[in-house]
Amino acid sequence: MIIISLNSDKNKEKTYSWLVMLKIKSLVEELAHVVGADNVVWEKEDLIVYEYDGSIDRSLPLAVVLPGSAAEVSKCVKISNKYNCSIVARGAGTGLSGGAVPLKQSLVICLTRLKRIIEVDEKNRLSVVEPGVVNIKLSDAIKDKGLFYAPDPSSQKACTIGGNVSENAGGPHCFSLGVTTNHVLGMEIVLSNGEITWIGAKSRSYTGYDLRGAFIGSEGTFGIITKIIVRLMKIPESVSTILAAFKSMDDASNTVSEVISAGMIPAALEMMDRITIEACEPVYNPKYPKGSEAVLLIEIDGITESVKEEIDIVKKICTQNNSIEIRQANNESDRVKLWETRKGAIGAYGTIAPTYYLVDGVVPRTKLTEVLREVKNIGRKLEVTIGNVFHAGDGNIHPAILFDGRKKTEVNQAIRAGGEILEVCVKAGGALSGEHGIGTEKQDYMRLVFNEEDLRAMKKLRAAFVQTDKNVDVEKFNPYKIFPRGSNDDEIYKLNDPEFYPTGGEEWA
Ligand SMILES: Cc1cc2nc3c(=O)[nH]c(=O)nc-3n(C[C@H](O)[C@H](O)[C@H](O)COP(=O)(O)OP(=O)(O)OC[C@H]3O[C@@H](n4cnc5c(N)ncnc54)[C@H](O)[C@@H]3O)c2cc1C
Repeated sequence: MIIISLNSDKNKEKTYSWLVMLKIKSLVEELAHVVGADNVVWEKEDLIVYEYDGSIDRSLPLAVVLPGSAAEVSKCVKISNKYNCSIVARGAGTGLSGGAVPLKQSLVICLTRLKRIIEVDEKNRLSVVEPGVVNIKLSDAIKDKGLFYAPDPSSQKACTIGGNVSENAGGPHCFSLGVTTNHVLGMEIVLSNGEITWIGAKSRSYTGYDLRGAFIGSEGTFGIITKIIVRLMKIPESVSTILAAFKSMDDASNTVSEVISAGMIPAALEMMDRITIEACEPVYNPKYPKGSEAVLLIEIDGITESVKEEIDIVKKICTQNNSIEIRQANNESDRVKLWETRKGAIGAYGTIAPTYYLVDGVVPRTKLTEVLREVKNIGRKLEVTIGNVFHAGDGNIHPAILFDGRKKTEVNQAIRAGGEILEVCVKAGGALSGEHGIGTEKQDYMRLVFNEEDLRAMKKLRAAFVQTDKNVDVEKFNPYKIFPRGSNDDEIYKLNDPEFYPTGGEEWA
């Protein structure tokens, strides 16, 4: 038996860190007993992989566990309760708002082993999938049946459907078909006491509150999704895609407004600006016309005859707005080539700067022209390079602030520019996020849109999901996210049993 004197501060510190180590060891052992030792990550050099997502923030998890079934997820949640630690669910970690970054030294539950497509019901046009299914793999798997899953984030080759549901992801083809919430019928979830339950159903209507709708977009703060029932769409009879280049952003923005006011709802209506074009040229070699300040990618789908008619109208509108070149895809491989550049554009920013901060704001479509001008002015004023690649049809802008993340001053300028852009979006009557969520990135801007009453109502909703057991902290799942910092001390949050987090979670530090 080792006897330690606690007289000196140094010994106290040592004893404290041994106790912490023992606690972690014991937690890891219990988790390993459930999922197997190979599916628990706890050594620092391995944990580093899980300290970030696609945003700027970083934070090391306590440990990472990769369960292989809903039952295992439930057991892991129960074990975490024994050790008073919070949980952050993680899909592929492609999120852009810090959602999967484990604050408060949380235990990360990574869902990537839950990747089965459990059922494809052609007659009812639905599928049951596990949350770790990579988005594009579902559409690939059902293509032969003439079906597809509509929400298609540009990250679809990597991101998971569980992450998409949690962020209510959108994508280039969500303009006409709607975002994730329009394509998810129900979910199996694990609650904070480890209970496994279902919300929503295979049928399209059900009685009672729409808990499914509330859960979608809750950014991992309500519980863990372990199965998802998704709607499937029929691949349209005909698709036509054009690319139109313009000498000014204003001409491109006006084209967007005119296409929509002409009564059309294109399947996709995407815009890229000059900086994005310059980033893409050396990577994808699309050979956009010299002098292009903006390109639009417009896709129309539906019945062959109406597609033909509508694409002619779109081309006419582009020409009237001074388009300098219009390219039309003549076959599927042309179409894939046109999309390749758009879908890979964000990665191509690496040719300009080592780091990007992709802002996500929504503005009324009619304000696109003036908002984009203001974004440009912010870039000039703060001396930061800002590219733009976005879902123009939805007014969902994505200014990409390009900087060097190794330089603190550049990081600060990027964050400042992002904040000013969000303020411009809100002033224009828009929203803080179109698809990337709030996470840590936008939490301090929440008060631009919501007052204290609104925030309180949201917290009550969270408490309704999380406090299934009075001994569980409201911030059990994904702590310190979404709500403005400094707002976590109101009475909803005081429902916590003070004994439960004896040191506010700091004991893991
Ligand atoms: C190049 C690039 C392009 C992008 N383009 C788009 C786009 O067009 N549209 C768009 O919407 N987004 C886009 N994104 C952002 C990102 O891909 C999406 O937010 C995506 O939905 C995140 O999925 P993920 O599996 O990576 O989730 P993660 O980043 O791992 O997690 C995201 C959030 O979901 C929670 N979560 C994950 N799995 C679960 C689960 N099973 N249960 C409960 N909570 C869970 C996490 O806690 C976190 O809060 C893009 C990102 C990149 C890097």
